[in-house]
Amino acid sequence: MSFTLSPLPYPFEALEPYIDAKTMEIHHDKHHGTYVAKLNAALEQAPQLHEWSLEDLLRRLSEVPEAIRQAVRNHGGGTYNHDLFWNILSPQGGGAPDGELGKFIARDFGSFDAFKEQFSQGAANLFGSGWQWLAVTPEKKLKLLALPNQDNPLSQGLVPILGLDVWEHAYYLKYQNRRTDYIAAFWNLINWKQVEKNLLKV
Ligand code: MN
Repeated sequence: MSFTLSPLPYPFEALEPYIDAKTMEIHHDKHHGTYVAKLNAALEQAPQLHEWSLEDLLRRLSEVPEAIRQAVRNHGGGTYNHDLFWNILSPQGGGAPDGELGKFIARDFGSFDAFKEQFSQGAANLFGSGWQWLAVTPEKKLKLLALPNQDNPLSQGLVPILGLDVWEHAYYLKYQNRRTDYIAAFWNLINWKQVEKNLLKV
């Protein structure tokens, strides 16, 4: 069994003007594609893991043989994280969540604006490459965390429901050093219905 690169759920240019088509093309086809290829290459050395789901690989990282653990952490994380990312973005995104997700956010952050502020600050303050996450704890509480590289909340016993890629490859062509402009643009693209689906699956 091997993992495949899922197609983008919309055309490369669909997220313009917030994320440009060239960035989407390189990000999906090259960066995401390389994570998938390198994950598969690492797993060739561990046939005993071939029935494991991607979620299991990240949840049970400590049980992955040491020889490929870092590769699974980096490239398994890269595969999972980008799949989640493309799906929580939408050309029809933006606004604020209602329903169950809206209630969870109000309960755990006080208000949507407070949540937005804290999430954006976390993304802006993350040093180097990584992701800002909104995840669900085993007690069904929402929690913000900023993790380096392609590390995933699953490896800490949490379930990610929203993530923002703040690697420079995600924004540099259009925004150069202006990461905060990219973060501000992100709020116009969030597919809250998908984030709520992710929450309700936990
Ligand atoms: Mn990326």
